[in-house]
Order: sequence, then C-alpha cells, then structure tokens
Amino acid sequence: MSARVIPLHDARPLRVAPAAVAGLPLGDALGRPLHDLRISVTDRCNFRCGYCMPKQVFDKHHEFLPHADLLSFEEITRLAHVFVGLGVEKLRITGGEPLLRRHLETLIEMLAQLRTPDGRELDLTLTTNGSLLARKAGALKAAGLRRLTVSLDGLDDAVFQRMNDVGFPVADVLDGIRAAQAAGLGPIKVNMVVQRGVNDGQILAMARHFRHSGVVLRFIEYMDVGATNGWRMDQVLPSAEVQRRIAAEWPLAPLSHSAPGETAERWAYADGGGEIGLISSVTQAFCGDCNRARLSTEGRLYTCLFATRGHDLRALLRGTAPVDDGQLAGAVAGVWQGRSDRYSQLRGQGQSTPNGERRVEMHYIGG
Ligand code: SAM
Ligand code: SF4
Ligand code: SF4
Repeated sequence: MSARVIPLHDARPLRVAPAAVAGLPLGDALGRPLHDLRISVTDRCNFRCGYCMPKQVFDKHHEFLPHADLLSFEEITRLAHVFVGLGVEKLRITGGEPLLRRHLETLIEMLAQLRTPDGRELDLTLTTNGSLLARKAGALKAAGLRRLTVSLDGLDDAVFQRMNDVGFPVADVLDGIRAAQAAGLGPIKVNMVVQRGVNDGQILAMARHFRHSGVVLRFIEYMDVGATNGWRMDQVLPSAEVQRRIAAEWPLAPLSHSAPGETAERWAYADGGGEIGLISSVTQAFCGDCNRARLSTEGRLYTCLFATRGHDLRALLRGTAPVDDGQLAGAVAGVWQGRSDRYSQLRGQGQSTPNGERRVEMHYIGG
C-alpha cells in the first residue's frame, strides 16, 4: 500500500509587515500571552506509537520530508531569537524523535546562547522517546540543555512493545532516564499516554516505579490529534480515574501550578514519595491559558496542536527579498495577535475542527 500522508494543506502565506509589536507580553485575540515555543526538528521517528504514527499509515512507502526542506540550525536559531524577542521564555525541542536529528547538540548549543530581552536564560528543554538517550544525555547536558521529558507508556515489555510497535524494550528507555539523571538533566519528567484497554493496567506499576525516584510521572489523556490514529472517546481514560486509582493506593494532596499555562495538574504523594502530573487535555480543556506556539520541521508556525494550516515562516527566511528580524517579528506578532484557537474547548462542547479540514499530524509539529 502506498500511504503517502500529506500532513498539511497549503501553508498560509505570511505578509511581511513592519514590526508593529506594541509592548510585551504579546497577547492573542483571547488575551493569552506568547510564552512557549515548541520546535520540531524532524518528522522522522524510530517508533510507531499507534496514537501518533500508526505503522499501517507510516509504513515503508511513507515519504518523509527531504533534508533540504527542514529548517537549518541557523534558521531555527534565528526564528527562536525572534520569538524570544516577542516574549517566549521556554523552548522545547521535539519531533518526531528529536534525537534522530544529526548533531542536535550543535542546535542546543546555539539555542542555549539566547537570552530574554532582560538578559535571563531560557528554559531550554526537550521531549524524547528515550531510545537514544543513554548515548546522548551527557552531550546534551554539555551543550546547555537544562532538563528533559521522556515518554514511556508502560513498564511491562509486552505492553510497551505493543505501543511503540517496533519491539523496543523498556529497559533501554529506563537506562536513558538514568543516564539523563546522572548527567544532571533533572528533574526528569516521564510522560505516559494512557489508552483505556491498552496500557491503563500499567498505571500503578509506573507510579510505584517512579515514586521516590525524583522523576515526575505525568499521565496524558489520549488525544484526537492528527487524522490517522483512529481516536475513539471510549479509549480515553479520564485523568480523574487515574487520580482515583493512584490515590486508592497512595493518598495524594493537590499542589499549585508551577507556572502560568502549565498543562499538568500537580499532585503530591502524601507520604513524601514525590509528585505526579495529570494532563487532562480531553476531559478538562486548558485552552483558556494556552500560551504555546509550534514551529514545524519545515518552518511553519502553528498556533494550536489541532490546527489544519500553518503559517509559512520558511518562505520569509528563504524568499528572494531578504527580510530583517524586525519584519519577521512583525509577521509572527501578526499571527499571534490574530490567534483565537481553542480546539479542545470546542470539542468539549461537541464541535469539531472549525473548517472541517484535515488536522496536522502530531509528529510533524511536536507534542
Ligand atoms: N518522539 C518524542 C516522544 O515521543 O517523546 C517527541 C515527540 S511526541 C509527538 C511528543 C509527545 O506527544 C509524547 O510524549 C507523546 O506521548 C505525545 N503524544 C503523541 N500522540 C499523542 C496522542 N494521540 N495523545 C496524547 N499524547 C500524544
Ligand atoms: Fe515517535 Fe514520539 Fe510519535 Fe511515538 S509519540 S511515534 S516516539 S514521535
Ligand atoms: Fe492550546 Fe489548541 Fe490545545 Fe487548546 S487545543 S490547549 S488552544 S493547543
């Protein structure tokens, strides 16, 4: 089967406007500030998690982006600099699997030099499936990465291998987590996507394993991202149920949010075993304070995880008429100021993608 998935519709062209940025923080149409930028550095992955890149679709016939289409490290750094000038304080490198991008440490090193307009360091972090982490943790830390998040959906090999669908063993991800802790990339967060009937039997084992370890385990509700994962509401295990199951074993006490726009509801083990996070993207939409922009592998700006179109920043960078950083900032600011996305909230009210178009795939814009 030739299953070329075209993750995008036409990109939205961007007008180069003179910078009209009227002070920070830059608010969108619903008053939400621009604070986080997620940067996808590759659309490739060595896993085939069914909820993200199902094997039947992303098979050997799938054409990934040619290298020339990817933003270069210089282009990514230039855009990140522009976003930081507009108020971004947190950069998350993601993918696809970001550690598959060659010489990623070089990009980390370049991004680690950026400072906020008032001279502060950025919160520079990365999300990875952990498969290459044991080898790369030291170099990432040396390059200036501050912390990281590892995705792991279970401790039982049969369950985890069914989920990653490439037979990747749990032990190697755990080795990666240990290496990252040893390298000083803590506190490590571990993301577990919970699918009812697939890995919800792993919730307590995961909680037990990461209690008292310094790792913050976060449970994510299975989301209807993209157009290929065959999402069904009956496979979503509400976070409230995760919380109930864990609290029945180890009592929990609520913690306050650590930062504005933080997606996870935080809970502490009452016995001092550390904390967990619950990300209720489906049952309790958090669009109200969503402050995240996403830069796709080929340089399109997305203002929502469920967007159908991105804004083509690469065309500005590579166009025949050179643009300066002020013009880039004007273009980005214009997009952000016009943003009114709140997909999860609308889904909660029974509405679907507003224009009925196909949604972008998650591995392409990052989680
Ligand atoms: N490959 C890296 C990884 O898996 O950590 C980074 C990219 S991945 C797209 C980023 C995050 O999105 C992961 O934690 C993954 O579990 C999560 N994710 C992917 N598809 C999802 C879905 N349908 N629902 C909820 N989370 C999802
Ligand atoms: Fe790859 Fe991450 Fe998607 Fe899994 S969730 S297929 S590891 S990009
Ligand atoms: Fe943000 Fe879109 Fe998710 Fe709402 S649905 S929280 S706007 S990314």
